[in-house]
Amino acid sequence: MSVERLAELIRTHQPCVVLTGAGVSTESGIPDFRSASGIWARYDPMEYATIEAFRRDPVKVWDFYGRRLEVLACAQPNVAHEALAELERDGLIRAVVTQNVDRLHELAGSRDVVEVHGSIRTSSCLTCGETAGFDEVRRQLENAPAPRCSLCGDVLKPDVVMFGELLPAAAIERATQLARIARLLLVVGSSLAVYPVAALPEDTLRAGGTLAIVNAEATPYDERAALAIHGPAGKTLSAICNYLRG
Ligand SMILES: [Zn+2]
Repeated sequence: MSVERLAELIRTHQPCVVLTGAGVSTESGIPDFRSASGIWARYDPMEYATIEAFRRDPVKVWDFYGRRLEVLACAQPNVAHEALAELERDGLIRAVVTQNVDRLHELAGSRDVVEVHGSIRTSSCLTCGETAGFDEVRRQLENAPAPRCSLCGDVLKPDVVMFGELLPAAAIERATQLARIARLLLVVGSSLAVYPVAALPEDTLRAGGTLAIVNAEATPYDERAALAIHGPAGKTLSAICNYLRG
């Protein structure tokens, strides 16, 4: 029933913009690093995921990112990513704004993806600006504890936003514009706890748009949403996709 209601909201409220968080990728075997367990619990984010830590000891930080990259390299898009890509192809989704750095929306076929926390697609040299692609970085990590710049030899930094770093301004500006023009902002797999992304629903509501949420747990915006579904992203989105495609 709620699946049908959400499908109708998407059909009648265009343009629809989607905002995704870690919950959309957990079904691809990617843990939410903010609530990580297992081997990830050994890595204190303040020691491994801040820009200060990187400037202090980049090789140590790559001990964490190297493992993370391996997990991400093996991950495949799941039915949630695929459903969002199909709905974009059908003209029912304008763009996907994502907090994820895993490239899985792109791999699933989504074309307009705004990555507000950066991406593991590239790593950059903070000294000279040279960049290296994901495959080159992985190749280097097979033989060294950290990838180095081919021009100046400094340790590369993954192009993901670390704690203490500013978010990419152009991506945030585009995300804000999309949130304002959205007649429906569909939040999937984000608990809307991390600013400034957590402010995007406010932008949509203030501009007269409607909010819908699909997330495993409750969010601070549930009461202001036209619909909040608490459940796994994959099952819900593939059901919506099937409904809308008849
Ligand atoms: Zn360099």
